[in-house]
Amino acid sequence: MEVFTGMTEHNHEQVVFGYDKEAGLKAIIAIHNTTLGPALGGTRMWPYKSEQEALRDVLRLSRGMTYKAAVAGLNLGGGKAVIIGDPERDKNEILFRAFGRLVEGLHGRYVTAEDVGVSVRDVEWMRSETQYVVGISESLHGSGDPSPVTARGVHYGIKACMEEVFGSSVLRGVRVAIQGLGHVGVYLAEMLHREGAKLIVSDLHENRVKEVVDKYKATAVHADEIYAVDAEIFAPCALGGVVNDSTLPQFNFKIIAGAANNQLEDGRKHNLALKEKDILYAPDYVINAGGLINVANEIEGYNRDRAMTQVENIYHILKDVFRVAKTEDIPTNIASNRIAEDRIKAIAQLRRKFVSKPVGAYKHGRVFN
Ligand code: NAD
Repeated sequence: MEVFTGMTEHNHEQVVFGYDKEAGLKAIIAIHNTTLGPALGGTRMWPYKSEQEALRDVLRLSRGMTYKAAVAGLNLGGGKAVIIGDPERDKNEILFRAFGRLVEGLHGRYVTAEDVGVSVRDVEWMRSETQYVVGISESLHGSGDPSPVTARGVHYGIKACMEEVFGSSVLRGVRVAIQGLGHVGVYLAEMLHREGAKLIVSDLHENRVKEVVDKYKATAVHADEIYAVDAEIFAPCALGGVVNDSTLPQFNFKIIAGAANNQLEDGRKHNLALKEKDILYAPDYVINAGGLINVANEIEGYNRDRAMTQVENIYHILKDVFRVAKTEDIPTNIASNRIAEDRIKAIAQLRRKFVSKPVGAYKHGRVFN
């Protein structure tokens, strides 16, 4: 892929390549769109097989962040960074500090955070060199682990789905199949259990399953069986691509609402198929935005109450997505994309309309009439 060909396809604003021989740094930062504000998105460290693969990934992920922030109502744009390297082998302080300097050089156009292969410790190394970092630990006045907050967003998203499908958000007696009992899944299980939901769970780690079965009277099923259980709701909280040609025919669910990224193997085809089966799908990047909303709050000085109120608003955001999907008779992920695009377009127009001449006058030392 040629760099400008890639940037042109989805209108990326800027791509920055960073190299530091001594630190062993090879990184790419992609800024997709900053209409709403600085581009926020984590840094991924991955042993990419080629530079092309790294470039393609960072362009795709940064664009996704633009949509996620826009639909969440944040005043932030979309960006992402990738460091080419093996997180098991190549991590060290100098590498992340060198990357931090690269971020600092963008003077706040891009704000970074953790992502796959990058831990809180790594982010704190970056922070030694740049102020444009979020997702730091609570001991450093950051927002800490985003997982319980993501789970809370999914919980409120599930309520919106319930309201849409059953006309009530009461979860007592409702069967929820949770796939994956990791950082997000266990918190979600606890929240749903507290509301009286009946849980059916699966995970590859037996100890995690046992803990949730013991604590929340959940029913355990084998990893392959979760797709065919009788439940009103399926909450994927493990991996992507779980809605596909082989799982779809097994579904008896009315709702799919979970934290996992990229749940639909093929966004267009599989959401249409869900729509035809009368299964309501909560677009993953909308319902799992709690973590992003949480870290975004660090920019203005972290306040847990404010972050939580914004995360609970995922309920209303999803209701809006469902309204647009229904009115326009389109799949829910197309509806959420449209809401994001409309918001960006409207704010860009507003800016153009109200660009004040005095700002120009001030800058150039002249007075305009
Ligand atoms: P995690 O790695 O802590 O947990 C994932 C769990 O899924 C693990 O316990 C793993 O054993 C299990 N698992 C893997 N394959 C499975 C399978 N085939 N069947 C059943 N269980 C399986 O991850 P997490 O932080 O809990 O995140 C879960 C998902 O949500 C991921 O897709 C992640 O990208 C997404 N997400 C997480 C956050 C967050 O704040 N952590 C935010 C947004 C999105």
